[in-house]
Amino acid sequence: MTAVEPVATAFHPADYWPAEHHLFETGGRQFLYLVPSGAVFGLSGLSQEIFSLLLSCPLSRNELTEELARRGYASHEIETTLDEMVDFDVVSSGVPKKIFPTVPDQTFPIQRIVLNTTNQCNLACGYCYEYSEDKIASTKDKPKFMSDSIARAAIDTLFKESAGRSSLHVTFFGGETLLNFPLMRESVEYAATKAREAGKTVEFSLTTNATLLTEEIADFLAEHRIGVTVSIDGDKELHDRMRVFHSGKGSYDIIAPRIKMLLTRHRTNSIGARVTLSNGVREVRRIYDHLTQEFGFEGVGFAPVTANPDRLYHINGTKMDQVVDQFEELAWEYRDYAIKGGRHYFTNVSDTIKEVHLGISKAYTCGAGLGLLGVGTSGDIAACHRFVDSPVAQMGNVTTSGLNHEARNEFLGKHHIGARPDCHTCWVRPLCAGGCYHESYINHGQTEASNLNQCDRIRGWIDLCLRIYGEIGVKNPKFLERFDEN
Ligand code: SF4
Ligand code: SF4
Repeated sequence: MTAVEPVATAFHPADYWPAEHHLFETGGRQFLYLVPSGAVFGLSGLSQEIFSLLLSCPLSRNELTEELARRGYASHEIETTLDEMVDFDVVSSGVPKKIFPTVPDQTFPIQRIVLNTTNQCNLACGYCYEYSEDKIASTKDKPKFMSDSIARAAIDTLFKESAGRSSLHVTFFGGETLLNFPLMRESVEYAATKAREAGKTVEFSLTTNATLLTEEIADFLAEHRIGVTVSIDGDKELHDRMRVFHSGKGSYDIIAPRIKMLLTRHRTNSIGARVTLSNGVREVRRIYDHLTQEFGFEGVGFAPVTANPDRLYHINGTKMDQVVDQFEELAWEYRDYAIKGGRHYFTNVSDTIKEVHLGISKAYTCGAGLGLLGVGTSGDIAACHRFVDSPVAQMGNVTTSGLNHEARNEFLGKHHIGARPDCHTCWVRPLCAGGCYHESYINHGQTEASNLNQCDRIRGWIDLCLRIYGEIGVKNPKFLERFDEN
């Protein structure tokens, strides 16, 4: 569903004009990324000529046909190609429109809750958004650990607010999640029983620093097909620069054997590595090789630390350019593997390509407050796990008020792409939609401010992924079938 907003025009309504787009070339061909629909369209021969004519100026069907006939094209060929381009919204006629996805109505169902099972952590990573200088949460007066009754109320809220959704998701998060493993075990049983009774399915995932993994926990994760994300920053030297115990001792030696044990015993769902890059840890290639070769991770995702630019661990200027160069190298390597039908584990590329393949056009940057809610140890509800126990993006409490729909609607109204004028002319908005609200709050003091300091890098990254996607589509289209919806 789309909201349509007419804009002033000098076009004659009978003219054809090109859709808002990003033109890119790859593998010797031209492609369009169509902004209103989020689709990719390959140009060649006649369609390329039609598009380039309309880029110069809007033309009527007669004018187009006459010009293309002069160039030697048969009229039935011109008619068919133009109609196809209209059907795919590559060109349009009539009054030009700006199109944004609609604001979902108040009953938009929740699909996922993130339970912050504890606000305690046995590590003291230098960059942690929960404990470092950029922290916005206050755990004063909050329980250190979530109780069974709060977790059950949170799961009840998920089921109550999920309306017609048949498939739900519970993510376990911390602090360090496994400090409260008994709660996780209890919650999985409770949610699975509830799902059976309601005729729904529920899936689970866990984020952990891996320090507390045991065989018993690994077997439980495997039995319940729980997806796992392990926070790890590379080999011992790199990892131990930031990911340390409160004593200052590095955690690599503790987690390495545990991760290997987990990867051996748990094969029923994905186990991915999540790397936080910071000023002192920027060796993307080296980290990727270590995590895939030493451990056998089949998914490695990188995220530069979310931090105010004044922080010492923030990656600035040319250092960030070096990170981007390494991302690019790995991305092209991904393309090479894909063309040969091989597997590559750089999830930054596969995640973006999947969104392109599915034609995602985002009204919101992410699911925060939309299909996703974070719940803290006291039962307080926030837009996502990063806002739990903070002064912003609060939306009720699972045991007292329930989900505060008014607060949620206000949040959604403020963060919709239509309410972000800075992004309205940006071709990458269907995939970016303004950037993480938590990052905005840290950098600009407002969740609704677009992350404009990142735009060039975001556009560069999406352009790169589009080129990779287009080339794979031409040389090994079968590879892309893995990204078909679920
Ligand atoms: S934040 Fe920047 S890159 Fe993202 S949609 Fe807005 S203008 Fe585009
Ligand atoms: S606001 Fe940021 S941290 Fe929260 S879910 Fe969205 S992208 Fe993730």
